[in-house]
Amino acid sequence: MAKERKCLEIIGIVQGVGFRPFIYRLAKRHNLKGFVLNNTKGVIVELEGEGAQIEEVISKIKENPPPLAQIEKIECESLPVLEYRDFEIRISRKTEEKNTLVSPDIATCEKCKIELLNPDDRRYHYPFINCINCGPRFTIIRELPYDRKNTTMAKFKMCEDCRLEYDDPANRRFHAQPDACPVCGPEVKLVDRTARVIKGEPISKTIELLGEGKIVAIKGLGGFHLACNAKDKAAVSLLREKKGRPSKPLALMAGDVEVVRKYAYLSKKEEELLSSSRSPILLLSKREGNTLPEEIAPGNRYIGFMLPYTPLHILLFQDPKEAEVLVMTSGNKIGEPIIIKNMEAIRVLGGIADYFLLHNRDIRIPSDDSVVAIFEDRPIMIRRSRGYVPEPIKCPVHTKKNILGCGAHLKNTFSLARGNEIFTSHHIGDLGTPKSMEAYERGIKHFESLFDIHPEVIVVDRHPEYLSTKFGEKWANANDRPLMRVQHHHAHIASCLVDNDIDKEVIGIAWDGTGFGEDGAIWGGEFLIADFKSYQRKAHLEYIPLPGGEKAVKEPWRMATTYLYYTMGEDFLDLDIELIGRLDLKKWEMLKAMIDRKINAPLTSSAGRLFDAVSSLLDLRDRITYLGQAAIELEMIIEDDGKANFYNFKLRKEDGIYIINAIPVIRSIIDDLIHRIPPSVISARFHKGLIEMIADITLRLRDDTGITDVALSGGVFQNRFLLQGATKRLIKEGFRVYTHHNIPSNDGGISVGQVAIAANVIP
Ligand code: ZN
Ligand code: ZN
Ligand code: FE
Repeated sequence: MAKERKCLEIIGIVQGVGFRPFIYRLAKRHNLKGFVLNNTKGVIVELEGEGAQIEEVISKIKENPPPLAQIEKIECESLPVLEYRDFEIRISRKTEEKNTLVSPDIATCEKCKIELLNPDDRRYHYPFINCINCGPRFTIIRELPYDRKNTTMAKFKMCEDCRLEYDDPANRRFHAQPDACPVCGPEVKLVDRTARVIKGEPISKTIELLGEGKIVAIKGLGGFHLACNAKDKAAVSLLREKKGRPSKPLALMAGDVEVVRKYAYLSKKEEELLSSSRSPILLLSKREGNTLPEEIAPGNRYIGFMLPYTPLHILLFQDPKEAEVLVMTSGNKIGEPIIIKNMEAIRVLGGIADYFLLHNRDIRIPSDDSVVAIFEDRPIMIRRSRGYVPEPIKCPVHTKKNILGCGAHLKNTFSLARGNEIFTSHHIGDLGTPKSMEAYERGIKHFESLFDIHPEVIVVDRHPEYLSTKFGEKWANANDRPLMRVQHHHAHIASCLVDNDIDKEVIGIAWDGTGFGEDGAIWGGEFLIADFKSYQRKAHLEYIPLPGGEKAVKEPWRMATTYLYYTMGEDFLDLDIELIGRLDLKKWEMLKAMIDRKINAPLTSSAGRLFDAVSSLLDLRDRITYLGQAAIELEMIIEDDGKANFYNFKLRKEDGIYIINAIPVIRSIIDDLIHRIPPSVISARFHKGLIEMIADITLRLRDDTGITDVALSGGVFQNRFLLQGATKRLIKEGFRVYTHHNIPSNDGGISVGQVAIAANVIP
């Protein structure tokens, strides 16, 4: 029998997922010699022995890799026999090109959970138990390759017992970089606002305090949470008041699926995702008659639940009589990024939290909880962060240069692209505060060095005032790199194409609140013919003033009165509807002056603002406290009477562009209000009117262009009634409809669209 020697280079998510021990065991079993090692590109394996055995090992690697591994490519080369004596795991070496993918953070696995709760285990109740199949990854990695010394675990020296496990290829903790135990690893401590340590076992004490109605800031995996007992109405109200967050839904955590089921309806798919290793916040339908206070998610049909995804979280639910469900909202000041450092938490959150459950495993990079919904058995990503980031997104366009997409201004993410991979960042959020900008710039630097992608082209939004635009301009200038500006809604549609892995021309329907248009107006109710190369604007909602600019976004009554004024002049003040009763006439006079004199009243075609106007007209919301609130509340009250009643828009064509006029819709709504038609029905008619209008325009555009593929994007399509209605209606008309699943349709997806468009354009 002739010996052979083969060298394999395996690329993909292959580090930190138990790959080397897996290879080691395989090689031993098949009596092969050689070695396995991690390098910055992936995993290198040399196998020497009988040819048939080598082939069998290779096919086993391909067919049955470790559960968390994702192999992208295996390169195989035959080499002269070297007569290796044994098979061994070698120490990592650096190579010039970094190509390894970093694994997202992984929720605690079943095996670790069993050990955690087993009084005989040496890690019983140890809040940092983990293994090769679970635990922190992205949030603790400083640089590649993924070795302990390159993580925030470097400062903990392993004890003898941990070292033995770490070195034993047969052990589940073999080369598990964050491995630790109560003897050698990180620890928790509970302190008050003055950083004074509270006596007693920190986690049991925390459970007790939560049970008493206290607010505790808890350091987790990707940052701090603010926690309180969700069943304690007073505690929830107090948390809302102190955080200055009056009505935006609060995320919840419950011990297990059965507890969640008491408060929300769960389908099979929802249960699966909720308990998966990604462990996102899942938006679920509230169970009728559930006993949670309305304050958790006022005016909303959905409620966001997650399960404990770290051992520390699991331990918080060991005494469910104290608090069966916890509010777990991001530990930050409104508008600022989530806090990751102990002292900063005490300083910044001291006005909100009574106590702080801290630990000394540092978080290298923040990562908020991801938010997902399941809709018609498929995920809809709302916020893509922990558990998903930094997994690359496959781009249908191959880029020849490295690209940085700077993203939007709110719900910001940035993206780095190389080849056909897009590395989209964790959720950065609203860039409006200096701290957010700091986190944004730090994040970009970290991604740059982690993935070794140094941008050669910078892409920004066309909006001149976005801080991401200003950052990109400065960066391009300082580094002498070309800058590209991409229109906001074009980027939305491109992100939807990437999400569906297609590269073709579509009718793109991009509806959102705000996006800077080519003509300087604020767009947001757009129909484009678009591909990655270019776009043409083919239809949009008719322009209407946005009196007060940003203020009109926060105060939907401004849009309601503007639409009323456009519908019937000042006669609307005599209408017998509630809005007029509560209207401050002085304020209206000011608004009217802005509109008439065109001062601080930019024009907008925003669909989001039309939703706002209707929401205020139906007495739902005159002032919002979080983005999209008025529109969300309008969707939530819908009661579809099943009748085909819907409101009609008026259409005209100007210079080849359809202008969609909403005045007849407003007129019908006034009419229905006067006839005391319930708001729930008016809302349904309004939504159905939008769906019919979408179908009408899309059919016309198909006649004009022959295009039969439609992409729906923009934050408005998080509205499930609209999404479902429009999709069904368009499919009935014979269209292929593409919607979002893994990339948010909101501005969190903008950076993805930006880099895909640039990838197509650059030579
Ligand atoms: Zn584990
Ligand atoms: Zn140890
Ligand atoms: Fe947008």
